[in-house]
Amino acid sequence: MKKLLIETYGCQMNVADSEVVAAIMGVAGYEVCQTADEADAVFLNTCSVRDNAEQKIISRLEFYNSLKRKGRRLIVGVLGCMAERVKEELIEHHGVDLVAGPDSYLRLPDLIAQVEVGQKAIDVELSTTETYRDIVPQRICGPHIGGFVSIMRGCNNFCHYCIVPYTRGRERSRDVESILREVRDLRDRGFKEVTLLGQNVNSYKAPLNPPVRVDSETETEEKIQRSGGRTAYKTASPDIYKLLEVLAKKNRQYPTEAEKAMWELLKGNNLGVSFRRQHIIGDYIVDFVCLQKDLIIEIDGGYHAQKEQKIYDEERTASLRRMGFDVIRFSNEEVIADTKQVLKKIQTALQHSPITGGDGGGQVTFPQLLRLVARTVPEMRVRFTTSHPKDMSDETLRVIAEEPNVCRHIHLPVQSGSNDVLKRMNRKYTREWYLDRVAAIRRIVPDCGLSTDIFAGYCGETEEDHQMSLSLMRECQYDSAFMFKYSERPGTYASKHLKDDVPEEVKIRRLNELIALQNELSAESNRRCIGKEYDVLLEGVSKRSRDQLFGRTEQNKVVIVDRAGHHIGETIRVRITDSSSATLKGETSPQPSPREREKA
Ligand code: SF4
Repeated sequence: MKKLLIETYGCQMNVADSEVVAAIMGVAGYEVCQTADEADAVFLNTCSVRDNAEQKIISRLEFYNSLKRKGRRLIVGVLGCMAERVKEELIEHHGVDLVAGPDSYLRLPDLIAQVEVGQKAIDVELSTTETYRDIVPQRICGPHIGGFVSIMRGCNNFCHYCIVPYTRGRERSRDVESILREVRDLRDRGFKEVTLLGQNVNSYKAPLNPPVRVDSETETEEKIQRSGGRTAYKTASPDIYKLLEVLAKKNRQYPTEAEKAMWELLKGNNLGVSFRRQHIIGDYIVDFVCLQKDLIIEIDGGYHAQKEQKIYDEERTASLRRMGFDVIRFSNEEVIADTKQVLKKIQTALQHSPITGGDGGGQVTFPQLLRLVARTVPEMRVRFTTSHPKDMSDETLRVIAEEPNVCRHIHLPVQSGSNDVLKRMNRKYTREWYLDRVAAIRRIVPDCGLSTDIFAGYCGETEEDHQMSLSLMRECQYDSAFMFKYSERPGTYASKHLKDDVPEEVKIRRLNELIALQNELSAESNRRCIGKEYDVLLEGVSKRSRDQLFGRTEQNKVVIVDRAGHHIGETIRVRITDSSSATLKGETSPQPSPREREKA
């Protein structure tokens, strides 16, 4: 196989996209490698948000061009936001062979084939529908502890300073099924944490999964798919499927006593959802299924006591669970003897299963998706970014408070503390609205970590506006912040209609004031952690010493601990003993780790 080096710049969306690109390029016969020395092709996945990000790419291109001048055969491609913004110029002035915008990655095998026969290739078409739903990303970035899953692409907000809506196109949400599939895949590969990504995750909205109707008596799979139905649960070969259909029909005609009793129970009690009986799921006929909640009920006959049958049942249950179903089993005797108890068990299972779509219509919103992901992978930590303050709902906050594996940390970019500036930025919220959202966070999720993005020197920013930013930072008591000085981006509304009128030295001074204040706030926030205990997911070896590991609390604070027999990927209980503005230091607590707590 040929070798491909992917260099990723910019935000986490780009990290996730590089993994999509790696999977697609596998099809084109390219295997990802780690160094330029072994590469046949290099892709730079780029960012256009700030000018210095683009300058970095230009100097990387100069480096690769110098290798080519020395006779090295190398295909150089530019992907991502800069490809979309700069387009042909990259080929004409910077020696690039291939240019692909964020919505063109499925065409990469074609594009690289063109380059391999000596042509230049470019595709920067934006799409209103592309979400790469069918690509399972190849996990190439970082240690396999935390993975990213894009839940949506693009942005409709058009903040006046921002290039993203022009480089990544209109907002579109991925369907629930494909997100859950990717999340489960991460879990199965041993990842401990998943971060749901989008430019504005809170505006996620996708139709509920179209009905799963492998209702074989009347319709074929193809027919269902043509009408937009979901048939993911049918995996059997056509011959086996035909056989299953015959059996399902027969079983429906001759139910056992226990099956009859269960059917009466499910129909006769107002459970708020509907069940089907003798339904084909994958290679199996299940006794009862609720497709709105992906819940299967199985009744074991007398022969289930046999060892072989037990093994088969266990495998069958595991396989159905891998397909995303919850499975509960009852014996014949249980169903006949104690229907009250059986009903109670079913009601509890229904309460704990989120609505996944199935037979229903309507929309899945971000808080619903977040809950669904959390419950699908209860053993993983779940994070999300980025949230737009205008869409941060109490419902989302309640999900964070209620679901134990959703991390209590919110990144809520404010950008400025002045209403005049916010208006000129087209941020669509006011200082008061933002502070109300922060108050809601403090009320509903009391121990939540809070971080932000804020920048100095936007068009028309006065000294008073700047002071408003400082006072808002004090009021919000951020744990951390990304701070920048404004740099105009060609193509944005601000570059065309607003004057970049704050002198450079004033921008720098104001930025330094933001940074100094945030250092104080971070130091104070970290000091408050001393003496407290946190669950820390260990992510890597500390830069300072190989005898120390670093990890993160739910609140996204970095903690250093002595290695002392611990390993990366483990979650341990840590008592904080010391702090700086950047990190916490801690020692293993005598309290049990989460795993031990679970065992207990
Ligand atoms: S919300 Fe605003 S800043 Fe964020 S990507 Fe969209 S336009 Fe850019």
